[in-house]
Order: sequence, then C-alpha cells, then structure tokens
Amino acid sequence: MTNSGSPLIVVVSGPGGVGKGTIVDRLIEQDERLWLSRSWTTRERREGESADAYTFCAPQQFEERIATNGFLEWTEFLGNYYGTPVPDLDGLDGRDVVLEIELDGARQVKARFPEAILIFLLPPSREEQERRLRGRGDANDKVFARLRKAELEEPLGKALADYVLVNDDLDGTVREMVSVIAAERSRR
Ligand code: 5GP
Repeated sequence: MTNSGSPLIVVVSGPGGVGKGTIVDRLIEQDERLWLSRSWTTRERREGESADAYTFCAPQQFEERIATNGFLEWTEFLGNYYGTPVPDLDGLDGRDVVLEIELDGARQVKARFPEAILIFLLPPSREEQERRLRGRGDANDKVFARLRKAELEEPLGKALADYVLVNDDLDGTVREMVSVIAAERSRR
C-alpha cells in the first residue's frame, strides 16, 4: 500500500489506437508495486490477441455480474460491454491499482474515488492514430467508428484528466508516467 494505507488508483484512458495497452504493459513490467486489473468484455477476441488480454465472456454472464454489483465500473463501447471487476483488496498485497479503460468508465471511477488519478493519453496526430488502429487489424468500419468516437471524447477527456500526455514517443511517455506515479505516491 501507499503511505496512507489505501492503494493509489491510476486510471489510464484515451482514444483507441493511442497506445494505452503497450504503455500500461511497460509500466507494469517496470514497477512491481503496480497491479493491472483485468477487464471483462463481450467483444470477440482479435486474431493474435492474447487469451488473457481480457476475461472474454458472453453478454449473459456480463449482465449477471452487473446484477450482483460485481463491477467497479462498466460501460457499453461500440456495441460491446466492458467492465472492471471489483478488485480483491486483500489480494493487492500493498500494490497500487492500474485501470486501462475508456472515458465513460474513467468518469465513473473518478466519481466514486475522487482521489483516483486520471492520465489521459492523446495520439500525436489523427493520421498516426489511424495507422495504429489499422496496424492491429481492425476492420474499416471499426477504425472509422473509433476515430469518430475519439474526436468526440478528446475534449471531455482533457477536461476530466489530472494529466494529459501526448504519446509521440513510447519511452518518453512511459518515463513521464513513472514520474507522475512517483509524484502522486510521495504526496500521499
Ligand atoms: P478494445 O476493444 O480496443 O480492447 O477496447 C476498447 C476500449 O475499451 C478501450 O478504450 C479500452 O481502454 C476500453 N476498456 C477496456 N477495458 C475496459 C473496462 O473494464 N471498462 C471500461 N470502461 N473500458 C474498458
């Protein structure tokens, strides 16, 4: 745990294709005091995507978990459910929590835990974001839907965020996030 005894909650959000997943994986590798929550989703697993990227489940299973208050936050994103299971605080073993989620979920977490830190990531340009979305094999309509959603959400994300970082260089962005987390830990 951090100094105050309760875990720091670090919410990493930003539009699809901004590189959230890669950045968060790097953070977790570097800092053993961070614990990454594994989300549930009803989306199909992508080709080549690791089986433990999410807990992949059927809509009915997801809805049952909603009904039993099993999610810290959940949302519907472009036709699928995504949600953060309520973490087992005892299992955290003193680690701080990282959530990699979209903006609606980030808003719910901030409302419930105002002390949570929201880091909102931006792509260096729309072109680069589109290139990254295509690079991971998303179909054309999905790419367009995600780009449209990004344009709508960016102003809201910037307004809600504690930190806004442009991911133009992976190493640099990870370094910035490491210093944000260090600063937040030392403030507590
Ligand atoms: P993808 O389908 O690309 O894996 O994820 C779509 C969006 O859902 C991404 O912005 C991702 O960060 C977000 N997401 C992943 N897990 C969760 C979750 O548990 N809750 C919420 N609200 N969003 C999530």
